[in-house]
Amino acid sequence: MLQVWARHPAAGRIWRVNEASRRKRGLAAAAAAGVDGLLLTHGPDLRYLTGFTGSNGALAMAGGRAVLFTDGRYTTQARAEAAPLRVVISKKPAPVAAAEWLLSRGVRACGFDAAQTTVAALERMRRELPASQRRGFFKAADGAIARLREVKDNDEIARMRRAANTGCSLFAIALGVARAGVPEAEVAAQMELAARRAGAENMSFETIVTGGERTALPHGRASMAKLPKRGFCTMDFGVLLDGYCSDMTRTIHLGRATPRERDVYHSVLDAQVAAIAAVKPGATAGEVDEAARGVLRKAGLHKFFTHSTGHGVGLEIHEGPRLAAKQTQVLEPGMVITIEPGAYLPGEFGIRIEDMVLVTETGGDVLTAESSKDLLEL
Ligand code: ZN
Ligand code: ZN
Repeated sequence: MLQVWARHPAAGRIWRVNEASRRKRGLAAAAAAGVDGLLLTHGPDLRYLTGFTGSNGALAMAGGRAVLFTDGRYTTQARAEAAPLRVVISKKPAPVAAAEWLLSRGVRACGFDAAQTTVAALERMRRELPASQRRGFFKAADGAIARLREVKDNDEIARMRRAANTGCSLFAIALGVARAGVPEAEVAAQMELAARRAGAENMSFETIVTGGERTALPHGRASMAKLPKRGFCTMDFGVLLDGYCSDMTRTIHLGRATPRERDVYHSVLDAQVAAIAAVKPGATAGEVDEAARGVLRKAGLHKFFTHSTGHGVGLEIHEGPRLAAKQTQVLEPGMVITIEPGAYLPGEFGIRIEDMVLVTETGGDVLTAESSKDLLEL
């Protein structure tokens, strides 16, 4: 999608109008699901549709109009971030005020995201409605916005490239810190410090650094355990930069690797490269998963590959599509996915290699290609 920039006449600052087009498409998708209004409260959805980054808000959309409801803490921020969208500061809970607005506009069936709304929150919104309109007003419109978010526009792709590049720069930092005797947490700390200095809002998830036998834990946290003299070290990390997440994994070796360690490393790498090669528009998520799994099967390692091959990434670290066995979802240009096969040999070692890949018109563009995947022996 073409990115449109304009100068805000009043504030005199650059603002994006992508959000307006996203709202239009979101409402159209919801209409196809049989609702004539939408009430959204999930933070990343609000950021996607309005630019607002506060922690409390509700977006109401109906009939080509939209209003963002939030509370007094966000008066200035919401108006600045969501302009020119109408912002209402409400004393009532934002979702309740949003539901009332939708009713006042004659909405009969309001879609909400059941995956992101607690039963208690739904009850609270429902209680505020006139008794005659409670029944059937709220309808689960699951994933309408999540599906839109799977395909990134040019503005998002540019941000994701920056996030991925910053992620790669952290790996370079880690290579300078990871040595025998250094605690895993120290490696993570240095990477996180560098992320902050590079402008990251946060890490996109808790940094994983594991050494030695602990690499066999796919999601081991960075602990005070010291990196071994000889053995693998796995680092899985990402930044949240300008709203967007990066996610990548590299596994390095301290000291010289044994022939068996080399073999397993190269099998995982072959599997990862095969899955990346399978990325193209029209391929199913299951086919990409199978490309990785098939290589590990041939190497006799498939029983040690205990998770899915990858996931979509964007405003959130885990988004659609899910790249797992038998998934029939078709890849489309603009999707950004991870490819992260691994092999975890209990009591011995584990290896995972992960890149972020943009689905292009013709194949896949690896956003984290800057970080080498050769077996590094430090
Ligand atoms: Zn990861
Ligand atoms: Zn991942």
